[in-house]
Amino acid sequence: MIIIFFGPPGAGKGTQSEYLVNNDNFIQISTGDLLRNEVETQSNYGLKIKKIIDKGELITDELMFDILDQHLTKIKQKKKLIFDGYPRNLKQADILNKLLNKHDLKLDKILFLNVKREEIENRISGRLICSKCSKIFNTNLKSKYNEIHSCGDQYLQKRVDDNYKTILKRYDLYMKETAPLINFYQNHIGFYEIDGNKEIKQISEQIRGFINA
Ligand code: AMP
Repeated sequence: MIIIFFGPPGAGKGTQSEYLVNNDNFIQISTGDLLRNEVETQSNYGLKIKKIIDKGELITDELMFDILDQHLTKIKQKKKLIFDGYPRNLKQADILNKLLNKHDLKLDKILFLNVKREEIENRISGRLICSKCSKIFNTNLKSKYNEIHSCGDQYLQKRVDDNYKTILKRYDLYMKETAPLINFYQNHIGFYEIDGNKEIKQISEQIRGFINA
């Protein structure tokens, strides 16, 4: 089963993907994580990517394609994949179709996680990520703050692009570039809009219902 998760920044795509990875053996392909990995490993493109991410802008479709294609080639078991953060615009939706064809895969579900603008700010401003295990926490959400975490608090970090100015920019870019995907996908079989303002657990259950439908 191949799933796309899309929605505004801070909608909970990472959190919900994490849930499906842990409970349903999905493999998460987060383009944000792939790019942050390029930065951390100081790859050829690392510095260029860092500057773009820090400004809240988008990496070019061509570079994103190369990184994603390479990653997909490395994954051996492609039966249950989640694309988290890709596609981010109409051109990438077209590229994804080609990529899926190339790797002999078919898109099954498109999950649009919709969250109110005010809630996004609240969520992103409290977000912390463990640099060791990549688990996501949130100081503004009780259920995401108190979760058991064995690595230790010293590994919890704020993302450089989770500051007020960049959040606004990322949201504007989402409205301009990514929101048109709603029209593009809404008549596709397997498209579901999810109210991402609800409690995390409720959303996870709803998502599982859609996946098993
Ligand atoms: P995310 O972790 O999904 O919030 O992504 C963090 C940042 O990585 C974004 O603000 C972009 O700069 C970059 N990024 C992630 N996914 C993409 C994509 N599909 N296309 C272009 N840039 C991306």
